[in-house]
Amino acid sequence: MIVKSLGAAKNVTGSCHLLTDENDGSTVMVDFGLFQEREFEERNHTIDFDAKSINYLILTHAHIDHCGRIPFLIKNGFKGRIICTKPTYQLAKVLLLDTGKIMSENYKYELKKALRRNEEKPRLLYDESDVLDSLDYFDPVLEYDKPYELKNGFTVEAYDAGHILGSCFVKIKKNGKSAIFSGDLGNKEKPIVRNFEYPDEADIIYTETTYGDRNHRSFKESKEEFLAAITETFKNNGNVLIPSYATERAQDILYMLREFYEQGLLPKCKVFLDSPLALNVTNIFIQNFSYFKEDNIPLFKKGDPFDFPYLSIVKDIEESKNINKVSERAVIIAGSGMLHGGRILHHLKHNIWKKENAVIFVGYQAKGTLGRKIVEKEKKVRILGENFEVNAKIYTINGFSSHADKNELTEWISAVKIKPGKVCLVHGDEEVMNNYKAGLEKTGFAVYIPCYKEEIRF
Ligand SMILES: [Zn+2]
Ligand SMILES: [Zn+2]
Repeated sequence: MIVKSLGAAKNVTGSCHLLTDENDGSTVMVDFGLFQEREFEERNHTIDFDAKSINYLILTHAHIDHCGRIPFLIKNGFKGRIICTKPTYQLAKVLLLDTGKIMSENYKYELKKALRRNEEKPRLLYDESDVLDSLDYFDPVLEYDKPYELKNGFTVEAYDAGHILGSCFVKIKKNGKSAIFSGDLGNKEKPIVRNFEYPDEADIIYTETTYGDRNHRSFKESKEEFLAAITETFKNNGNVLIPSYATERAQDILYMLREFYEQGLLPKCKVFLDSPLALNVTNIFIQNFSYFKEDNIPLFKKGDPFDFPYLSIVKDIEESKNINKVSERAVIIAGSGMLHGGRILHHLKHNIWKKENAVIFVGYQAKGTLGRKIVEKEKKVRILGENFEVNAKIYTINGFSSHADKNELTEWISAVKIKPGKVCLVHGDEEVMNNYKAGLEKTGFAVYIPCYKEEIRF
């Protein structure tokens, strides 16, 4: 059996591993994500294997760095089936449609620019219609803890990865050999999704290492910090802006705000969820409450745990613009999470230069993003072509991550019995992985960091 690392190897995004049985050439691929680091973007446009030869694609979860190249795979002749859990299919559908829309908008913009300047035309990876075509290939049949037999002799076992709704880690078996792929593992303190399950045994294991270099601040402390930031801002009658990812983070935020409200801790205010994508995702959450932590289930049965009297859902652009007429005590939740684009930029324009307001960052800000610049205390920023002074108070809350931290990763890996094989580290920055490897080797594991396109036999 061979595993080839085709993404997230010595980098974080573009997750993809290809498993081939050398005896009969049968194949299973795990994830087919988009490369999101600028330096690896070029890899998105090439597939250097025969897409027609892939029998199955198994999806660990719906984040774009794990499923974001599926429409491109289908455009390149993939004829197999895509196997995942039901919520992963539902989430992948809305997230891929959103990505396809953004890609075609960017393409049109870049094309105009290129024609004007007589430059080389841009390439379009896929658009919304390619996404719609790809939906026919999905089979949302995976269930946690139940083996699923594929027609090419492989068996897939999915276990809860506790990362986002529907996420799993998978064990793939054939002829007495088995490989485990972690996908992304979750932060155990998060309020909604269940905690990860533990791996039992395998010949080889591929595990993510996103936070292999640090432990998160506790969720409880972060929640207190979050409430304090809101309360403080309201004392000066300011507004609070929360740039948020649409999946999981936006729901965690709404869930906490509803809790603060019920506990009488949230001062009277107006909360706006200004993200059609986050609204779609929230509706998928409500339909799948059986996937959540036990104590949440009665809440879901009683009603919508993301709703409370101060909340307004903003649908169209006009409504979104009207939020800026509310001059004080508004909490505005909008995307994008790293200020790449989206409705949050308009709200920033109206609020960032006033000292009574606050921006609360609740997620990771990648290098080079506007979010990172603001977090790193740049005093002057450019938003939608205009210069602004950053006078609003900036808060960064670190404990709301959807990823396992260093201790949790080690706890998860330590559960596995590796027959003679290796623990392979993927989905992390190279430096982080090197440090993490050194620590993990001390616990007795044989640890390896595969390169992009490297094949490992087991
Ligand atoms: Zn993920
Ligand atoms: Zn990931």
